[in-house]
Amino acid sequence: MKLDAKAMRYFTAEDFRVLAAVEAGSRNHEVVPTPLIVQLSGLRGGSGVHRSISNLAKTNLIAKVKNAKYDGYRLTYGGLDYLALNTHQKQKSIYSVGNQVGVGKESDIIVVAASDGSQRILKIHRLGRISFRTVKTNRDYLRNRSTGSWMYMSRLAAIKEFTFMKALRENGFPVPEPIAQNRHTIVMSLIDAFPLRQIAKVGNPAVLYAELMAMIMKLARYGLIHGDFNEFNILIKEETITNEKGKAAENAESSDEDIRLVPILIDFPQMVSVDHVNAEMYFDRDVNCIKRYFKRRYGFTSDDPGPFFVDAKKQLRKNPGKRLDVEVEASGFSRKMARELEKYMKDVGVDGDAGSAERSDLDDDNENDDYDEDEDDEEEEDEGEGDEAQGEEQSFGDSKDQHADS
Ligand code: ADP
Ligand code: MG
Repeated sequence: MKLDAKAMRYFTAEDFRVLAAVEAGSRNHEVVPTPLIVQLSGLRGGSGVHRSISNLAKTNLIAKVKNAKYDGYRLTYGGLDYLALNTHQKQKSIYSVGNQVGVGKESDIIVVAASDGSQRILKIHRLGRISFRTVKTNRDYLRNRSTGSWMYMSRLAAIKEFTFMKALRENGFPVPEPIAQNRHTIVMSLIDAFPLRQIAKVGNPAVLYAELMAMIMKLARYGLIHGDFNEFNILIKEETITNEKGKAAENAESSDEDIRLVPILIDFPQMVSVDHVNAEMYFDRDVNCIKRYFKRRYGFTSDDPGPFFVDAKKQLRKNPGKRLDVEVEASGFSRKMARELEKYMKDVGVDGDAGSAERSDLDDDNENDDYDEDEDDEEEEDEGEGDEAQGEEQSFGDSKDQHADS
């Protein structure tokens, strides 16, 4: 289920209209009957439409489904990718598609270019594509799918991520710049940095640790808990500090003091409000992820046992920031959407990167751990199930999808 941009070059305007028709038909039909596709495409039902249907089916953007009552087609993830990509290109958020740089459990991360050649990140949400450990529950869930489909949920995740990224960015948090959101995808600025997970040595762990804890506390002051705050979702930029003589240190070997590590936070589909019923659990989990990682990886343990959720609540009363948890509800990600997404994530066993980090901690108590070889990637290969799992209650076409420029 990789993004296949190559096939797209050969599509005609008719192909595109037929694809859009299948998407529109998917709103009310799990399997869109062929006559409805013809009707929605607004094209005359001659051989042209049927040629388009067969083109799209051949490139797996739609899939033929034999239903008990009638035959028809459904949109595949590839088809949805194409529609989103097409919109991004029309809106000039993306000019061309480059390499895939990451395959998460719930997303694909692709480097794309803007028309000025600058690089950006396209994140495609693929909720429901999860590690094999929970695939069975997932299948059962999808078989009895009653509320929405994973395509719809992936779109909710994208809307959520974009809305939170925007609010955080506007309030001075170190996060990527959100550029556009469409369907199940977002476009953001590329951060030229590695995840903390890949940083073998930190000159002064106490300083970075304190900064990360300060970030957790600041988020809480703005009403938020990240919910998946860990070494995969913190990118570390190395900034060279100008030394006293006003001359930049030229190489990393000169001294550790010349390099400042700047953490950038990513990955927001699991963010929760400090007023969430399980807020304390999420807060503690974020804090403990960092504690555990610093101990294990850098041999660093803080003398300070906190921070604790009561401290966070106390500062929220004394010195509150803007309530971003309230703000995002008003700006596109409603409480109802939040509830729907949360329930789905819980039901299909989405536990974010924190879950995999915990599991790998359990899996390998080996002292000679090779951190550079990211073992978590391996359990993410189970993906083929995806396209079977389309639901009936999609509403992609009506999207109030967002664009940063508008
Ligand atoms: P997931 O929800 O699948 O964990 P993430 O948003 O955490 O997805 O992204 C997965 C990986 O992709 C990150 O660990 C990081 O290496 C890379 N990545 C994501 N966003 C960016 C970005 N804006 N710039 C650079 N790398 C990124
Ligand atoms: Mg992540």
